[in-house]
Amino acid sequence: MGDSTNRVALVTGGSRGIGRATVRALARDGFDVAFCYRSDDASARTLEKETEDSGTTVTGTRVDVTEAASVRAWIAATEDRFGHIDAAVTAAGITRDNPLVLMEDEQWRQVVATNLDGVYHVCRAVVFGMMKRRSGAIVNLSSVAGVYGHATQTNYSASKAGIIGFSRALAKETGRSGIRVNAVAPGFIETDMVTAMNDKARKEALSSIPLRRMGTAEEVADLVAYLVSDKAAYITGSVLQIDGGITI
Ligand code: NAP
Repeated sequence: MGDSTNRVALVTGGSRGIGRATVRALARDGFDVAFCYRSDDASARTLEKETEDSGTTVTGTRVDVTEAASVRAWIAATEDRFGHIDAAVTAAGITRDNPLVLMEDEQWRQVVATNLDGVYHVCRAVVFGMMKRRSGAIVNLSSVAGVYGHATQTNYSASKAGIIGFSRALAKETGRSGIRVNAVAPGFIETDMVTAMNDKARKEALSSIPLRRMGTAEEVADLVAYLVSDKAAYITGSVLQIDGGITI
């Protein structure tokens, strides 16, 4: 069994977007990082290469967060390799938008299975080791859609609201064991998830953001890195919005 002297973080959905920026930020901050992704092997290998000079170990594994057994095996292997897991960030997420009247059962199920079951699978598997060591920080990626709701996103909004309830409940349950659990709720962030928007929708979105721009994955990653750091030692059960003011 390994015993890394670095702090160790898990990141789901680390191959692209906010997850990838989080992997980079945590490696910069001295974490060994084990990240997972669903299918994009090329992006994962590129990220491993890019972070080679960080002085820490960054390693990506193809794991579908909807599959409990695969998640358990990945987390057990990570604990075995590094000896401990200090932080977990759940960024894996998908959208399958449709007005409810047209929603297909499969669209509902895929989104809830990835966004909400995925968070449960990861936290369920990681929390026991953190409780034993009486230390840990978890950050779950929610969304402003989970706080306020977005039309055509009943599935996504429900999953992201679920993450908020889940994170607060877990924060209450595990605070006495030295574990902090927070949720981050981004607004529009410039990633693959948002570049799929058409020009009209993008213009409308921009005009409703007081800062008149979308956020960057790096800005969200810096907030996540802060939340898992000791600087945030007294923050738990919070839902931190990072949205350019769109929800004011
Ligand atoms: P993204 O660019 O689309 O990347 C999604 C990541 O999740 C990819 O690494 C993808 O892996 C991974 N993933 C998807 N399904 C998975 C599964 N079943 N198992 C394992 N990994 C899976 O997304 P993003 O924009 O960075 O979003 C990251 C998180 O922030 C999501 O939870 C999203 O809901 C939330 N968020 C985003 C925004 C935004 O404006 N972008 C706003 C609010 C909240 P592959 O590369 O292999 O596909």
